[in-house]
Amino acid sequence: MQNRTNKTWHEMTSDDVLQALHVSPNGLSPEEAASRLDEYGLNRLPEPTKENWVIRFLRHFHNILIYVLLGSAAMTAVLGHLSDTLVILAVVIVNAIIGFIQEGKAEAAMDAIRHMLALKASVSRDGMRHLIDGEMLVPGDIVLLEAGDKVPADLRLLQVNGLQVQESILTGESVPVKKDLQPVAVHTPLGDRGCMAYSGTLVTSGLGWGIVVATGAKTEIGRISGMLSTVETLTTPLLRQMDVFARWLTALILLIAGVLLVFGHFVARFEFTEIFMAVVGLSVAAIPEGLPAVLTITLAVGVQAMARRNAIVRRLPAIETLGAVSVICTDKTGTLTCNEMMVASVVTEAHIFSLEGVGYEPKGEIRLNDAIVSACEHAILDEIGRVAALCNDASLHHHEGGWGIVGDPMEGALLVLSSKIGLDLQEELAGWVRTDVIPFDAKHRFMATLNHDHENHAFIAVKGAPEEILSMCAFQRRVAGGSDPLNKAYWHEKAGEIAGQGQRVLAFAVKPVRPEHTVLELTDVAQELILIGMVGLIDPPRPEAIDAISECHAAGIRVKMITGDHKDTAAAIAKKLCLRNSDQVLTGADLDEMDDQTLAAAVVETDIFARTSPAHKLRLVMALQSHGMTIAMTGDGVNDAPALKRADAGIAMGLKGSEAAKEAADLVLADDNFVSIAAAVREGRTVYDNIKKVISWTLPTNAGEAMTIVVALLFGMTLPITPIQILWINLITAITLGIALAFEPTENNTMQRPPRRRDEPLLTGELAWRIIFVSVLLLGGVFGIYAYAVEQSYSVELARTMALNTLVVMEIFHLFFIRNIYGTSLKWALIAGTKVVWLTVICVTAAQFAITYLPPLQTLFATVAVPFWDGVMIVVVGLVFFAIIEIEKRLRLLLSEMRTGSQES
Ligand code: ADP
Ligand code: MG
Repeated sequence: MQNRTNKTWHEMTSDDVLQALHVSPNGLSPEEAASRLDEYGLNRLPEPTKENWVIRFLRHFHNILIYVLLGSAAMTAVLGHLSDTLVILAVVIVNAIIGFIQEGKAEAAMDAIRHMLALKASVSRDGMRHLIDGEMLVPGDIVLLEAGDKVPADLRLLQVNGLQVQESILTGESVPVKKDLQPVAVHTPLGDRGCMAYSGTLVTSGLGWGIVVATGAKTEIGRISGMLSTVETLTTPLLRQMDVFARWLTALILLIAGVLLVFGHFVARFEFTEIFMAVVGLSVAAIPEGLPAVLTITLAVGVQAMARRNAIVRRLPAIETLGAVSVICTDKTGTLTCNEMMVASVVTEAHIFSLEGVGYEPKGEIRLNDAIVSACEHAILDEIGRVAALCNDASLHHHEGGWGIVGDPMEGALLVLSSKIGLDLQEELAGWVRTDVIPFDAKHRFMATLNHDHENHAFIAVKGAPEEILSMCAFQRRVAGGSDPLNKAYWHEKAGEIAGQGQRVLAFAVKPVRPEHTVLELTDVAQELILIGMVGLIDPPRPEAIDAISECHAAGIRVKMITGDHKDTAAAIAKKLCLRNSDQVLTGADLDEMDDQTLAAAVVETDIFARTSPAHKLRLVMALQSHGMTIAMTGDGVNDAPALKRADAGIAMGLKGSEAAKEAADLVLADDNFVSIAAAVREGRTVYDNIKKVISWTLPTNAGEAMTIVVALLFGMTLPITPIQILWINLITAITLGIALAFEPTENNTMQRPPRRRDEPLLTGELAWRIIFVSVLLLGGVFGIYAYAVEQSYSVELARTMALNTLVVMEIFHLFFIRNIYGTSLKWALIAGTKVVWLTVICVTAAQFAITYLPPLQTLFATVAVPFWDGVMIVVVGLVFFAIIEIEKRLRLLLSEMRTGSQES
């Protein structure tokens, strides 16, 4: 916004800023905001400049194999084999195009996900609080900042309440700085401008209101454009490991190829062109060129599948970790429960009332011992209703669909309670103005407000966990008015009683203060409060979470509930959710008494942790990790960030989670639902399986082809498949078929297997054995057919064409084998396959017919038409190959069953 005073924002007082931006303290009107949005545009940082598509396309040529191929193309051209040159060049280009398209798709998948994590901002417009997309902010908007928020635009602060901001993204300084309202000199460095909050920084504690002075590219962070181009690349530790493996393999193969070239030409006296082409063929055959591309696609498919299941991946390695998770530590409220709360009971010094109603509709009877009572007979209910309404940040709305709330569901339920009691919320809020507040913090588990009326009265309203509140009270309200000394035992007993029914318990207290009192300190509420009463809130468990928990149990994953709630509430909900050991609860206080060793011993068998604070989460993660377990941990508050970072898979809540938690997390749940965690684990396992399948399918193919050439060379035979034909198989057929595996759906028993160990190597002995076994079979098939063709005195071209087709047919059968690699029996559903599988098989088959029967391709690839019955025989060879590998698998599974069987008996 044009600053007409020629002063920088941090030099001006807040009133001057309001004036300069033409805003009333109530904020902009919606119309003014809309017109400013037209003028200034969306509050969005410019997209990082993407590389030109030509450069991205050319980058697909930057790889050793392609250089080898280009070199060979040049060489064949020099030697006068023009058709070979053409084929090599065509294959190189087609390969680059396939890679380019795939990379584009994978990136589009990641982009789509980035946009799902858009920032929200809480603004005041015309005096009403709204939650809007951060992109819609305009200069002049008045924004609320709360602990855990990410500052959505550059702000000049108008009001602060213990506000602290971590500005490392701009200043590099990771210690949070305290904010105030004092203007500072023009040239004050950014980190010392106490009256400003800059876009992209994180609020670590406190509250504040600020006015937007710059949005989008005009913000400080928008100016440092370089920082924004850090686009995450699509990789994980596993893929990086594979990449390194592929690179060393390439080097080794090139070395062997070089030796063969020298040996073949000078010792075995092959003609140079012939041996050169053979060696090129070997390199092409053995290097798993398509593998990295296919693995990247597999990951991208997994990221998309998770996003469809409401699990948004922020850090890609999480996909791998999720598949290995052995313990899920989850929040209760909102994740395992519906988070649609309703006050069901109210406890006073003398009575327990029960309430009726549905949802957030402020209608329902209040009953005492089954008889309907009217609130006016019980003045104490009024006082409870007042504290509930004043010590509250939520708001209750009526719209066409019914009643809804903005803010914390529990606080929404308290507003409904006040209405049911008969209070007029607007009147209460206007009559008792809030002068100060101590916001709720999971560390101290209470919230307090200081309220003044217009007749020089003031009082503090406090609500929070009963244990906390009771320790701050000295008195209790008598139902007839006045107060008595506190009877702690009575209240503890009642709290336990309602908590035992699975209700969340909250206590209310007040303290009158002198009207001059306008600043609320922690010491003001530490003692001498008057307890008014307690309420119990019901929050039913999510029915679908019960199934998800039993799915996790079947998958060998322990589910642990970590909550700030009362011990008995936690146990009652845990029982409904069918958690293990639901009567064994450890509280935060218990944890504090344990040293790390005792905790490590206790943590394995205990599944319920109550009255915990965020610091306990960190200790629990570390204790579980000390057993070598892989931990997924959920969190929403700003204080949960350390535990989320420390956990193997940190999971933040997308709806009620703070930006700080999301920033620290690997995964964000779009719907805050436990079911999505289970789904993410399932997808994580699927991705890992598919990566393994891609590798198990690709490597034997390469090895088989390479062995074919080496064997032929060693025995001085003509090659059963020409190098150009191998090029065709590897760069076109193999990549197409391999991609089918990236789209493999989850196998039926995926969630019935125990979790894989984190350190389990990808190339296990079993996989190594399968590579050898299958490649030998491929070799046998190719030479078998070739020998048969020679026997029939077919031409070399026909023999080679048959060998080529046999290899491709066996690859297709191998693909079907890999698809059910974990299955014990061959089911029709497995053979029927997925659309993608059939699509690729049809493409590859069509391509094979083309290369075998179309004259122009025949000239290029030196192929000839295969007679019908020989074609049938090729398919039969494929079938026999399939039968052999299926039987081998069955035998191996039987053997391992027998081994575990004999161990058990
Ligand atoms: P959970 O792990 O179930 O989300 P929290 O840490 O949010 O638990 O809350 C722990 C306890 O703190 C609750 O049982 C309740 O007694 C109290 N509490 C929660 N929210 C508020 C609030 N907004 N104001 C006062 N007290 C609260
Ligand atoms: Mg909570």
